[in-house]
Amino acid sequence: MRAGNSGKRKFSIKLKLTLWFTSFMALTAALCLGLILLVNGRVAENEAFGILSLTVKNSVTKVSLENGVLSLSPDFQFYANDVYFLIYNESGAVLSGQAPPSFPVDAPLENGVSKFVAGADGGDGYYVLDFWIPSGWDNGLWLRGVLRSPDNDQMTRNILTIFTIVLPFLILLAAGGGWLIARRALAPISRIADVAESISAGQDLSLRTGLGEGTDEVGRLAGSFDRMSARLEQSFEAEKQFTSDASHELRTPTAVILAQCSFVQKHGETMEDYREAISVISRQAEKMSLLISRLLDITRLDLGTQKLKREPTDLSEMARILCEEQDTGERKISLDTEIQDGVTADVDPFLISRVITNLLDNARKYGKEGGHIRLTLCRRDREAVLTVEDDGIGIPPEEQDRIWQRFYQVKSSREEGYGLGLGLSMIRQIVSLHGGSVSVESQPGQGSCFTVRLPLE
Ligand code: ADP
Repeated sequence: MRAGNSGKRKFSIKLKLTLWFTSFMALTAALCLGLILLVNGRVAENEAFGILSLTVKNSVTKVSLENGVLSLSPDFQFYANDVYFLIYNESGAVLSGQAPPSFPVDAPLENGVSKFVAGADGGDGYYVLDFWIPSGWDNGLWLRGVLRSPDNDQMTRNILTIFTIVLPFLILLAAGGGWLIARRALAPISRIADVAESISAGQDLSLRTGLGEGTDEVGRLAGSFDRMSARLEQSFEAEKQFTSDASHELRTPTAVILAQCSFVQKHGETMEDYREAISVISRQAEKMSLLISRLLDITRLDLGTQKLKREPTDLSEMARILCEEQDTGERKISLDTEIQDGVTADVDPFLISRVITNLLDNARKYGKEGGHIRLTLCRRDREAVLTVEDDGIGIPPEEQDRIWQRFYQVKSSREEGYGLGLGLSMIRQIVSLHGGSVSVESQPGQGSCFTVRLPLE
């Protein structure tokens, strides 16, 4: 099998194409040569018959038999336009005239028929035309025109000599041109193969062919290859990110759980000790479970495996329901709304509802006790604009850019153990998948206002 494959690969496609092209050109040249020789022979023959016919017809009226005696007009010539004339009597005996030595003078006479007669010595042939010139009822003469067939061999030799000189150049030119065209056409494929080999050898998925998006078949192949590499790189990056995020973030709750276990194993004496340990372990396990599901959501969005399921959605209705479902909790934070009716957009309702819920949850988490949250929704230009405002702890200006990063938490919130630092990065991802934007305005100690803009078309 191996031997077979290596045998097949002995010639590169470039070489095969060039060989094929060159052979094709050589064959075409040979065919042309044959055709030229054929046409040339035919043309020379037709021309010769034309001259013979014209010359003989001109001379017919100049020959006659008067009272049994041959009579020739004064302007009759036995040799005109390369045509020899012979005059025969009625029984086929030569009366007068001359013919080339190799011409068989006894060749049968046929009235008005042009024909080819081979030479007696096997040399040149002759074109012959005979006419019967009657005299009275039962007497007459034969006038025969004889034209030596043109020397085709010389012409053929000339043509062949020219071809022998020109053909090697023609083949060289065809081979060179074929090679260049094949090389040019296949260069992108070699580049793609090189990049593919480098990727598989070094696992460097950032390599691209850099051939751009062409419109021809090879250009499209290069474009698809680059897009495929980019997609693969993105997938690997997302997977790497997930693994490192998960291992990093799961380390703390795992350590707490292990510490609790070893503590109660060594020092747990009362039921109360065990109950307390189990409650800590359960809280940490819940956190781990939430963390994993959030990370999976984000990874799916990163990979594009969680596809947007867009459908016409009444955002006003959705916002209203989500606000009603919010419970004020122990911290007595009130929620006001100002929702314009009939704000609809083509969005993924599940994902957008998560955006609103997350913003409301944050406003509540970071709002002050007995404070206020205000949610507004309206249509502005061609956008749906949603704001969630609270009068809570606010975010320091230098942190406002970083809160969108995965796992980033403002120091105070981290210390309070409020969340995971994944909500806002997911919100930004969902909103940008919808072609929208999200921003924050905040003053520490006074509150924050998050604004989401979603294009309506
Ligand atoms: P989480 O709330 O789970 O920590 P988020 O990604 O939702 O994660 O938020 C990131 C950080 O941004 C939070 O830790 C918090 O410090 C800050 N933050 C988010 N929303 C608000 C808000 N409404 N008020 C004050 N700070 C906020």
